[in-house]
Amino acid sequence: GSARRCLRLEPAAAREVLGAADTLLFDCDGVLWRGEAAVAGAAAALSRLQARAKRLCYVTNNSSRTRAAYAEKLQRLGFPPAEPRQVFGSAYCAARYLRQALPPGAAAYVLGGAALSDELGAAGIPHLGPGPADLPGPGPADWSRAPLQPNVRAVLVGFDPHFCYAKLCQALRYLQRGPDCLLVGTNRDHRLPLENGAAIPGTGCLVKAVEVAAEREAFIIGKPSRYIFDCVASEFEIDPARTIMVGDRLDTDILMGNNCGLTTLLTLTGVTTLEEVKGHQESDCPSRKSLVPDYYVDSIADLLPALED
Ligand code: PLP
Ligand code: CA
Repeated sequence: GSARRCLRLEPAAAREVLGAADTLLFDCDGVLWRGEAAVAGAAAALSRLQARAKRLCYVTNNSSRTRAAYAEKLQRLGFPPAEPRQVFGSAYCAARYLRQALPPGAAAYVLGGAALSDELGAAGIPHLGPGPADLPGPGPADWSRAPLQPNVRAVLVGFDPHFCYAKLCQALRYLQRGPDCLLVGTNRDHRLPLENGAAIPGTGCLVKAVEVAAEREAFIIGKPSRYIFDCVASEFEIDPARTIMVGDRLDTDILMGNNCGLTTLLTLTGVTTLEEVKGHQESDCPSRKSLVPDYYVDSIADLLPALED
């Protein structure tokens, strides 16, 4: 196709682009809200889109909430009512992946929080915590002799604020059983931005630690992996040519959308500046060109004028 140009989506063009779409996939943090604060005008824009019979889905790399918890957060922040089945979080999609990839009765060893456990439970996949009781003791002898569960056939790494050396040891010991034990990561986001330029390490750091120890690469569920889009496409009838991916991050949202043949729309309410886009646009490197979106808006509230009657 022709080169993507990151055009500002003015109301006239927005009317045309939205008119040609039947589905919009929204990244969450940085697009709809920042932390607990809704982006001004975002809820109104989504209500108008829903009133125009657009299908809205929510696609997030964050593995620390279930589908149901996202539906609840959308409602709490004033967004149009969403059903859990419209939400594609990396916790739900990871459980879906393991359900198809694991033999019946096989279990997952999980580095992650309650949302991952809940989604695995809902998918019928046996899994171990690990809570403090499942962890080896404090010394090197404990790390190499702690009990292992015989039926574990996957290590799943998600956002885990209680990640620690003992868990890394157990993960390696399971993965050393061989290629029959899968290594799956929910996403590779390396930093989670906070306000004022501050940041905390993202799940990508934890996935990397396990990959380095195990000397192999994880299968990744979240953006830019196309697996998360394939989940949406297998649960709804999706025509990529009539689907818009809206996101604030180039190396996840926009790259996935471009790779999957979607129209891509960048919003500047999150982590990306136009200067970064310009750098990619002016580069001769093909892999940087695929980080350039078709369009951008300052905020998805800018879509409102195009949605007035
Ligand atoms: N992972 C975690 C743990 C997060 O807290 C967030 C954002 O808050 C993300 C990933 C990125 O989520 P999204 O794909 O919705 O921007
Ligand atoms: Ca985001």
